[in-house]
Amino acid sequence: MATPQDILAWINNENIELIDLKFIDTPGIWQHLTLHKSQIDESSFTEGVAFDGSSIRGWKSINESDMAMVPDPDTAWIDPFMEHKTLSMVCSIIEPRTGQPYSRDPRSIAQKAIAFLQTTGLGDTAFFGPEAEFFIFDDVRYDQNQHEGYYHVDSNEGTWNSGRVEPGGNLGYKPRNKEGYFPVAPTDTSQDMRSEMLLTMAKCGVPIEKHHHEVATGGQCELGIKFGTLVQAADWLMTYKYVIKNVARKYGKSITFMPKPVFGDNGSGMHCHQSIWNNGQPTFAGDMYAGLSQTALWYIGGILKHAPSLLAFTNPTTNSYKRLVPGFEAPVNLAYSQGNRSASVRIPLSGTNPKAKRLEFRCPDATSNPYLAFAAMLCAGIDGIKNQIDPGSPLDVDIYELSPEELAKVPSTPGSLAEALKNLETDHAYLTLGGVFTEDFIESWISYKLDREVIPMSIRPHPYEFML
Ligand code: GLN
Ligand code: MG
Ligand code: MG
Ligand code: MG
Repeated sequence: MATPQDILAWINNENIELIDLKFIDTPGIWQHLTLHKSQIDESSFTEGVAFDGSSIRGWKSINESDMAMVPDPDTAWIDPFMEHKTLSMVCSIIEPRTGQPYSRDPRSIAQKAIAFLQTTGLGDTAFFGPEAEFFIFDDVRYDQNQHEGYYHVDSNEGTWNSGRVEPGGNLGYKPRNKEGYFPVAPTDTSQDMRSEMLLTMAKCGVPIEKHHHEVATGGQCELGIKFGTLVQAADWLMTYKYVIKNVARKYGKSITFMPKPVFGDNGSGMHCHQSIWNNGQPTFAGDMYAGLSQTALWYIGGILKHAPSLLAFTNPTTNSYKRLVPGFEAPVNLAYSQGNRSASVRIPLSGTNPKAKRLEFRCPDATSNPYLAFAAMLCAGIDGIKNQIDPGSPLDVDIYELSPEELAKVPSTPGSLAEALKNLETDHAYLTLGGVFTEDFIESWISYKLDREVIPMSIRPHPYEFML
């Protein structure tokens, strides 16, 4: 645990000139402000650094706009993308008048989720391990001329490049859809970029594990980072996105975490591995199905029961629901299984070590705000444990292969963001009971998503409508 004194000493000893303070907004984007080193002292870590919160999407109105950001010393790293030596820190937001956490600050909501877990006595720590997939695309802004007349959209459905925006010219070493996992170069064209992303991430304090191409062709990738405690894992995920996007920028490429950017090929998910620990002991390992404990099965019960509303946080964009369709390794049904990747909750084979016992919720995608998504999943799981919600029997078959009659018995993921938001309107007591989310926040989330995303999308003509 770093202290404010450690940070101030670091600034002095390493000749750091600037301090970049980053915080998360409600939709999940990092915002930032840079201070000269003369502007930071010990009080910055308690009273915070003032800023105008009125222009932050979904936050305060102009007549009550003063806010303060409080840097977390444990999140400090030298920003590798800034030319002048700059120390970066992630902040939570407080109300300057009261010193209380701001109720709409997602990082404060995540902190409250852990405090709530501790009050239940069920555990003191929740671990999360997100696996955020993404696509690398050519950055058209980078060299417009190079791309002049270069793309064509192939609308010939059913052929190997159906519906995809394809570069013309020589198609040598070009894999078909869903064959990107994972031949070596020259089929894999982003090896060096991914290596640079991974190694840069390590310099920013994120424990790194691996990188690889993913199943979708045309540059779908995934980098592996270690799991962390709830807030830490969310901080790391934001660093993950920041580093990936900024390294790609150097290569003249652009990144999207959009769940389904390409029709006919796999989408990008953000599977979330999770478990609860108490007093240094794992609580999910036991002698029930797949080596799970009763606690873990009830946690799964909570996740599956609340999934229809939970997805409003874990899959919070209109595009999210274009990924949750059969045939692309994305879950479409609310069931659990050991090893079965078509179930929305999978229990990975984890050997004999009880400490590795965890479950993987496969619905989430990386358009979610990780602080809100992790907090909401934990609340659903806690609700499952407290109310002993039975997850039913596991589904150890390929769900995509089930007959319509069998399938009818398995509940499905919501079909759209509008549906998930509607479910959230009626099912959110599990989020507010422990004081983690406020009613005000849930209401503002629903109206933000409807007014800024669902309704604007629904009133715009779609390219596909011209083909009908
Ligand atoms: N891309 C798949 C998804 O949408 C997952 C693929 C994988 O990691 N096995 O969830
Ligand atoms: Mg993975
Ligand atoms: Mg993957
Ligand atoms: Mg996975």
